[in-house]
Amino acid sequence: MYCGTDVQRGRSSRRRRWRTNVFLALVLLLELAVVGGFAAWLLLPDQPTGPDSQQPAPEQPSVSAPVEPEPMPEDPAVTQARTQLLEEARQLMRGYYYEEALQLLDGSPDLANDETDTLRQEIADLQAQLVPYTDGQFYHIFFHSLIVDTDKAFDGDYDAPGYDLYMTTVSEFTAMLPKLQAAGFVLVDIHDLVEFQDGVAVRKELLLPPGKKPLVLSVDDVNYYQYMADDGFATRLDLDENGQVKTVVDGVLTDDGDVVPILDRYVAEHPEFSWRGAKGILALTGYEGAFGYRITDLEDYDEATGQAMLQKTQAVAQALRETGWQIACHSYTHNQYWNNRTITMDQIQYDIGRWTRDIAPYVGETDIFISPFGVSFARDDARMAFLQEQGFSIYCHVDSTMPTKWDGSWFFQGRINLDGLTMKRYPDRISKFFFDPSEVLDPARPQ
Ligand SMILES: [Zn+2]
Repeated sequence: MYCGTDVQRGRSSRRRRWRTNVFLALVLLLELAVVGGFAAWLLLPDQPTGPDSQQPAPEQPSVSAPVEPEPMPEDPAVTQARTQLLEEARQLMRGYYYEEALQLLDGSPDLANDETDTLRQEIADLQAQLVPYTDGQFYHIFFHSLIVDTDKAFDGDYDAPGYDLYMTTVSEFTAMLPKLQAAGFVLVDIHDLVEFQDGVAVRKELLLPPGKKPLVLSVDDVNYYQYMADDGFATRLDLDENGQVKTVVDGVLTDDGDVVPILDRYVAEHPEFSWRGAKGILALTGYEGAFGYRITDLEDYDEATGQAMLQKTQAVAQALRETGWQIACHSYTHNQYWNNRTITMDQIQYDIGRWTRDIAPYVGETDIFISPFGVSFARDDARMAFLQEQGFSIYCHVDSTMPTKWDGSWFFQGRINLDGLTMKRYPDRISKFFFDPSEVLDPARPQ
């Protein structure tokens, strides 16, 4: 049985081979005919082709004609470079860097294809849709350092009622950002609102996508004062290994310990919330240093520690300025003589003089003055003239309707505090412009 099968298999395989040979011969003949026909077609002089041709199409062989060779598959490195280019251009587009996005695409003509052309058109369309912001209402919100640990801040001790009034918690601030974005706000640099022509403040043309509203944000007293230690706040700003500004909370570097790293991360994920990378203004006093570094009490530290603090203050300020943050003077002393506006010329000269001498060299010069306690002075007050002589031309006080004025040599902008005080006692002031504060109010606050 085993052998018989073998014999049969031998016979049938010979028959198959004979049939195969005949078949191959036929195919060969057919191919010769096709190739010959194709060669003859190629040799025809000035054969008109294309859809416009009035000539009948050359007779096609009945079997499939030789086709164009498949295009070489694209080098994977080129495909990858284009994917990266498209991603970078989209990120720039989302942050309103339209010109930069177009330049990026145009700078790589070797990567151009339908996809890059489509994106290029999309960016050009968005750029063409920008309109000058002409509304009279402007928006400026402000905070203090955020409460990270509500158990510590609201522990019922002496400080707790003040924190409940004047501070905002991390959870509240984090919840506000998407609500502000959904309401059409886009962060702008306060310098996008004003330009000084021969020393006179004039409204600067601000181009925004239709319907967007310009929002200035500021944070007061980014000094991490001693009295806040152990009350559930960050203790200082610092840099991570990539040079990005983070918070230090309980000795650990974190990216959710205050406004700066939280907003940096939010804008990185939602570039459309920031007009060309703008973040906000950090207002600094000086009597306990800056950013949590006690650089005005160097006598309390050894030489090396003091130098390290000065260098760190400079490095943090530089990193902030490079990432869309501005720095403002919030007076040096934050003394009560500001609050009751009894500050004398001698006192204001001492106060601002110390800020200029002991803080500005490390955080950089600024033209923004954010008044302590939100106080205002009469326009023609000699103390205003003194502030202007010291280089300030943007003055921000506190006013929940956020009046914005270009007044001679000054630009004034009132600010609304989105803190416990306003959220709990005057919620309408917030809901009128922004969102319903009851939707973000931290349940950990004292009832
Ligand atoms: Zn203050």
